[in-house]
Amino acid sequence: MIEIKSVQEIKKMKIACKAVAEILSFLKKSTEVGMTTKELDTLSEKLIYEKKVKPAFKGYRGFPACLCVSVNEQVVHGIPGNKKLKKGDLLSLDFGVIYEGYYGDSALSFIVGHPPTQEQEKLLRITEESLYKGIEQAQVGNHISDISHAVQKHVEAHGFSVVREFVGHGIGRELHEDPQIPNYGEPGEGILLKEGMVLAIEPMVNFGKSEVRVLSDGWTVVTQDGSLSAHFEHTVSVSRKGPEILTERENEESYE
Ligand code: MG
Ligand code: MG
Repeated sequence: MIEIKSVQEIKKMKIACKAVAEILSFLKKSTEVGMTTKELDTLSEKLIYEKKVKPAFKGYRGFPACLCVSVNEQVVHGIPGNKKLKKGDLLSLDFGVIYEGYYGDSALSFIVGHPPTQEQEKLLRITEESLYKGIEQAQVGNHISDISHAVQKHVEAHGFSVVREFVGHGIGRELHEDPQIPNYGEPGEGILLKEGMVLAIEPMVNFGKSEVRVLSDGWTVVTQDGSLSAHFEHTVSVSRKGPEILTERENEESYE
């Protein structure tokens, strides 16, 4: 069942989402060569308590950390640990919090300590652009698969592939609510979007083939062919005035 959120509920989600956006921006700015992924998680936990929100991921189905940190060929759900970040690593941070029972969820990717190579820049740019192409379709009266189709079309037009096993989702009083939002599909299918729906749209894009597998830790998803992968996500509310990005970050710099 798809929950329609009231104005009051969306106000609470905005508070959660603003904290997510600010913390993600801070984590990106704070990332340095030689840091461990665990240090980033520890920093995220400190910021969570400073902002008086709660972690959304820690303990979710047993996930052990507040932050998902996925490096290079890791797609999503990387567990923070003692791995040291190297110059030129492609880092994907996925992060969520809870405020008064309401969730916010967002992700971004960037290169550690170095301008991206041409290939990295293109992968990051096309993945983020595909997120915004999807968000543009989050309009009252559109079908859910209009989002999916817009993402897939943009990604494949540039020679990359979308991950199929993991999808975007409704969000609100749960981290993952209905509907599922695949990053592929034909337009005009599935449910109709209504005012008050809140969606986490999240393209996961591989430089090579679309196939992925899960490592023996039970969480970390990697590309089957070892190619790089990027991930961008925003929590978006559907309104008659158009899509509103609740996790929008301020003053984001470009990839160069
Ligand atoms: Mg997420
Ligand atoms: Mg999500």
